[in-house]
Amino acid sequence: KVGSSVRRGLELGEVFIAVKTTKMFHQTRLELLLDTWISKAKEQTYVFTDEEDEALQKRMGDHVVFTNCSAEHSHPALSCKMAAEFDAFLASGLSWFCHLDDDNYLNPQALLKLLSSYSPDQDVYIGKPSLNRPIHASETMPNNQTRSVRFWFATGGAGFCISRRLAVKMAPWASGSNFLSTSELIRLPDDCTVGYIVECKLGGRLLPNMLFHSHLENLQLIPRPQLPQQVTLSYGVFEKKLNTVELAGPFSQHDDPSRWVPESLARLACSQSLL
Ligand code: UDP
Ligand code: MN
Repeated sequence: KVGSSVRRGLELGEVFIAVKTTKMFHQTRLELLLDTWISKAKEQTYVFTDEEDEALQKRMGDHVVFTNCSAEHSHPALSCKMAAEFDAFLASGLSWFCHLDDDNYLNPQALLKLLSSYSPDQDVYIGKPSLNRPIHASETMPNNQTRSVRFWFATGGAGFCISRRLAVKMAPWASGSNFLSTSELIRLPDDCTVGYIVECKLGGRLLPNMLFHSHLENLQLIPRPQLPQQVTLSYGVFEKKLNTVELAGPFSQHDDPSRWVPESLARLACSQSLL
């Protein structure tokens, strides 16, 4: 029965991929993405950053979006970027919104396979649950009272996707300056705010999916033969150690801190053919 529910014909052209970044990561992180997976999903991928960068603009054209958000790791700055991503998606008219951080590796084919088992006409919010239980928060009410709310949310750092139908319903809380006001109601980061809007404002549910990965989980635990099926991977620090997928690769850790070796091999092949 495998694949019986797969809808034929979902193409990458239907997916809007938003990558959140900041000026200090343009060279260290973004270049790596441009050299790897973004090159396979160029038309669909938009990068949201906080400072103009000629080199980046030269490479990406109008696929780099300079938000007026401040370059900070604060809740308001990050919510400002999420709102910019969300608005650009709504304006695009595409069927699926997927958010990624700039330390995510995306496998576009695995993403398509996953999304094609859902309809963009359903309410879909899919990603890796950040916690193994709903988060509890205190919501500020209009009369300045508070009420306690609980909801699931997908870790932004593992990437998540939302169908157009759901995104349109979210707009009153998520578009433009609404996103920031909504996040202020619960005083939690942008990814929590997305879950709060879906579950508490719209009565929707996060669809938990284990094919999304952030560096807040031990990436070495993903069995190597299953790496090609994963929708997202990541790299970074976890429990004070560098956390990467279990692949050696031809490049030094310095040249390829991500260890995204299938791509590294492609780059190697490319550079050899140039010799
Ligand atoms: N980020 C940002 N502004 C900042 C710091 C980080 O937009 O001032 C973005 C960064 O580019 C990345 C995401 O926020 O896409 C998460 O940042 P990071 O990986 O450094 O932190 P983590 O939360 O994963 O530890
Ligand atoms: Mn990170």
